[in-house]
Amino acid sequence: MAVSDLMMVSLPEARVLERATAMTGCQERGCTAPAVAMCAYVDGRGRSCETAWCHRHLRAVGEAGYCRRHASTVAALGGKAKDPRALPAVDHRGASLVNWICTEGHAALQGAVASALMPGEVIFEDRTVNVVRQSDGSRRWERGWRIGDRTGLTSKVLVCVEESDDALVLLAIDDQVVAVAVPPWITRRRAKQAVTPALDANDRSQFYGFLLGHIQSVLALRS
Ligand SMILES: [Zn+2]
Ligand SMILES: [Zn+2]
Repeated sequence: MAVSDLMMVSLPEARVLERATAMTGCQERGCTAPAVAMCAYVDGRGRSCETAWCHRHLRAVGEAGYCRRHASTVAALGGKAKDPRALPAVDHRGASLVNWICTEGHAALQGAVASALMPGEVIFEDRTVNVVRQSDGSRRWERGWRIGDRTGLTSKVLVCVEESDDALVLLAIDDQVVAVAVPPWITRRRAKQAVTPALDANDRSQFYGFLLGHIQSVLALRS
């Protein structure tokens, strides 16, 4: 047996042992149940998520079980999650944040795009998050809306998070970044600040209003 074959047999086994000993209780706050599995996420560099969860708090996507963040990362990428090059680093929230904003803010953001349509134009909406390689080699996760007419694509509106900063949301319209913002819930989590549900809802609607305003004003300049 060649050395490379040996490595292929022994490494995963060592890994399973190591991971099994790391697993004790479920890591959901306040949950006292024993953990039944580790999160199955392994990023493009082979780093795995080291969190363990009980039956109730392990989130299934397809055949595998994940923690909350990685379940949403894998779901956000859809079929692309099978490609290691599409997967953000284990501690990077890019894909799930983009997806969350396009989901929670869907009515506001798509409404702003729809209201800017010119006669004969239609909207094509991304259903999953795409990963693009930028000129400096870093990656960007994005999802949004493309506007087109019978001649082809006329505009695109994308919510993006770059590899360099996974808290910063960029709004790009026709390849120009027109607004950047850190979502209020991330700012608060960083500051360990708790707020009432009413204040949280108000901050979120302001955040989506900020994005919506930029979509409307930039698309209004199209001729
Ligand atoms: Zn639990
Ligand atoms: Zn995980």
